[in-house]
Amino acid sequence: MNRQLLSDISDQERLTRVFGRMMQKGLLAHAYLLAGPSGAGKEALALSFAKLLLCENPYLGKDRSIPCGICAGCLKFDHQTHPDLVVLRPQGAMIKLDQIRDLQRHLSFPPLDSQRRVCLIMEAQKINLPAANALLKTLEEPPAGNHLILTAASVRILLPTIVSRCQVLTCEGLSVRALLERIKVEGLCSPDSAQFLACFSEGSILRAKDLLEQEVFNVRKDLFEFLKTSRVKALLRLFVLSKRISGKRENILLAVQIIRTFLRDIMMLKGLRGQDLKEKNEPGAQILFNPDYENELQEISQRFTCQDLTEYCQWLDKVEWMLDRNISRDFLAESVLIFWIRRP
Ligand SMILES: [Zn+2]
Repeated sequence: MNRQLLSDISDQERLTRVFGRMMQKGLLAHAYLLAGPSGAGKEALALSFAKLLLCENPYLGKDRSIPCGICAGCLKFDHQTHPDLVVLRPQGAMIKLDQIRDLQRHLSFPPLDSQRRVCLIMEAQKINLPAANALLKTLEEPPAGNHLILTAASVRILLPTIVSRCQVLTCEGLSVRALLERIKVEGLCSPDSAQFLACFSEGSILRAKDLLEQEVFNVRKDLFEFLKTSRVKALLRLFVLSKRISGKRENILLAVQIIRTFLRDIMMLKGLRGQDLKEKNEPGAQILFNPDYENELQEISQRFTCQDLTEYCQWLDKVEWMLDRNISRDFLAESVLIFWIRRP
């Protein structure tokens, strides 16, 4: 493994370690901005900072910084019930003024459970102008005990007034090849499945581990079984499977994202034939997300036109959009799958 690869690999953990050291020395800034391209693992990093901040007994060593995993703070964080964690995401295309006003109302009370409250503002580049202006005052001087962590694709597309009020940490993320190495070194999954995990983890080893906790391979297997069965059998499976994924927003989102990788692979297989694919499909080359299902995907690809696949992708975009609205999760879980059954 060369030096470049090593520095690549340690980027996420390096930032977490740096953050932990700042915590330990009492040098925390009140606002951080994690900037980096899509797939760099900014969300996973923001969440890991938040968990460290809310843990009652974190380990903050020179070698690494990790939450204890067993205190009340960690358990509530894991169950997404921590009252001092506020996560704000774009509603539709934008982060709007009333969302910032809500956030400010939260901040006006002291933290409920923990010494501090953590507010994550994901995709801060989508904040609209009135909301950005309202946020400035809070960023400059949040009430005591509150920490804000913003993520954005780039500092260049944010208002300079927002950037200047935050401590900026640049998050490069790992290349697929580096992540693949890391997954193999840590033995996170079988070698056959490693390519999927590396491509699907958005450059973040932490996300790879989170995905394993969400049993991503079982979900992928179930979805693949569904996609390859005949229409009649698929109808029977649909109800069982949609019931299983409808419990949480995250489960539906995961299903949407996994199906997209299958559709993407099928499109690639329709475009690339035989030798082309063999030459290009080296580990980490990111030609297929699911090379372990290549033969079956090849068969499925005969049955569909690119138009069918594009329409399914567009349908999944709509489902993802509806997930952030007040729409029944049972309906959405069925919607994710039903498009496949509508096929000719
Ligand atoms: Zn803890």
